[in-house]
Amino acid sequence: MPRYDRDEIARRAGHASWREAVQATADLPQQEAGRLLGVSHPTIRVWRAELGLGPAAARPSAADTAAAFRADPDDPRHGSANGYRNLRCRCEACTAAWTAYQRDRRG
Ligand SMILES: [Zn+2]
Repeated sequence: MPRYDRDEIARRAGHASWREAVQATADLPQQEAGRLLGVSHPTIRVWRAELGLGPAAARPSAADTAAAFRADPDDPRHGSANGYRNLRCRCEACTAAWTAYQRDRRG
């Protein structure tokens, strides 16, 4: 026997089903979503994970993307001004590309 009925909880909070409730609150912090639906935030985490909305499904942040780029010397973006400026790589190729880019801009 489950300790609670998910759909019953969702309906009490004004949603058609627990899936709909989780999706409707997916952009909120776990604490806030839990408060709205009347469950604990670990419960929200479990529900989100079951729907593929957990942290693992989240898009990587710009910082993560840049870190992954810098850690991969075979990435074709090395040797570009973008690599130096936006992805903050300071390898020889990116630094040289940035220097050349600055030189060209000054004319
Ligand atoms: Zn680089």
